[in-house]
Amino acid sequence: MAARPACAGDPRFTADFLSAAAVAQLARICAQCPVRQACAAYADTLSPYTASGVWAGRRRGVVQRADYRPRKEAS
Ligand code: SF4
Repeated sequence: MAARPACAGDPRFTADFLSAAAVAQLARICAQCPVRQACAAYADTLSPYTASGVWAGRRRGVVQRADYRPRKEAS
């Protein structure tokens, strides 16, 4: 059976909002990944509007401003 990459099932890799420290932590995980090159090549083929989260150690997708805060839900 093939090994699963460390990101499989880890919601941090697909989170819309991550701190720089969190991205750096995920990048360290990706640095150890045996399919990192294939992951990066695939991520490069995706639109920034469909590839969100961290792929091959890089934040992908549309990146929000550093001061972005999600709106509170209307009650
Ligand atoms: S390099 Fe790609 S497949 Fe590997 S852990 Fe990172 S995001 Fe997952």
